[in-house]
Amino acid sequence: AAKLTGTNRFRDHSGELDATAAHHAELAAALRRGLDHGEFRLVYQPIVELPTGAITGVEALVRWQPADGPVVSPAEFIPVAEHSGLIIDLGAWILDQACADAAAWHRRHGAGAPRVNINVSARQLLDPDLPGLVADALHRHRLSPDRITIEITETAVFAGGVALGTVRELRELGVGLALDDFGTGHSSLTLLRTCPVTTLKVDKSFIDDLNGTAEQEAIATSLSTIAATLGLRAVAEGVETRDQADRLHALGYRYAQGYYFARPSPAEEIDAALAEMALAS
Ligand code: C2E
Ligand code: MG
Ligand code: MG
Ligand code: MG
Repeated sequence: AAKLTGTNRFRDHSGELDATAAHHAELAAALRRGLDHGEFRLVYQPIVELPTGAITGVEALVRWQPADGPVVSPAEFIPVAEHSGLIIDLGAWILDQACADAAAWHRRHGAGAPRVNINVSARQLLDPDLPGLVADALHRHRLSPDRITIEITETAVFAGGVALGTVRELRELGVGLALDDFGTGHSSLTLLRTCPVTTLKVDKSFIDDLNGTAEQEAIATSLSTIAATLGLRAVAEGVETRDQADRLHALGYRYAQGYYFARPSPAEEIDAALAEMALAS
């Protein structure tokens, strides 16, 4: 019961988390307790191949389920976890869990297992131990590095001087590297010259705007052309309608992710979808 008041104290009358100054430290402490009590879990959203609809990858997305309240979105707690430094321990847990699930899928589905995308935040990228941590997780789960892709954002790479070196070390391990929310940062093209990414995740805002006007289509096409020219794969993010999916396919996109294909769901549901896919093929 003490814990109950503990978490609800961060909610306002509408039930939204109130992460403003006064409650910040308490929220950080609740996150810490949540990690110690196993209140975090991962859900996975499929990344599909547009021509076939086959699941070729999944993105791991973290959820916080406090014992005494509704599920909290990462958009609300990741910034707090970053600020408090908890993201280092939380990030290590996420990495380990995602690698465990990736290894289990690989054992059960072999070549049909999806590559697993794992988000890392700016603070994690500033940690010089990150590449070692990733190498260790791969080793413990006997996972080949090409089975995972680390998702980073431009802002994270620009957050500090050591980040680019860390990114290069990650790439040298052999893991995939995706630039998340691509196109929303300020120096996308400059960054592509120096940052050894393998995938561009074209931000949802460009996909939302894909309403058939020549300009919006030109932008979406350019972004996929940039990827193709540099030998990178492009993934369209946040695809919500069949119309968007068809248009993206016509514009040359090969991979997409979004509610139209699948919502993020627990590992067991992904497993069932993979089993079904194998039966159908
Ligand atoms: P992101 O990495 O860009 O993840 C994509 C977000 O878009 C996810 O929100 C996903 O559920 C949502 N999404 C996917 N398809 C659609 C769609 O068709 N329509 C709409 N409206 N949304 C869609 P989510 O899970 O709430 O995560 C939000 C952000 O929180 C992520 O953005 C990422 O920046 C961060 N995050 C999530 N999980 C992790 C994690 O494990 N570690 C770190 N460091 N950050 C994470
Ligand atoms: Mg992401
Ligand atoms: Mg994204
Ligand atoms: Mg995003």
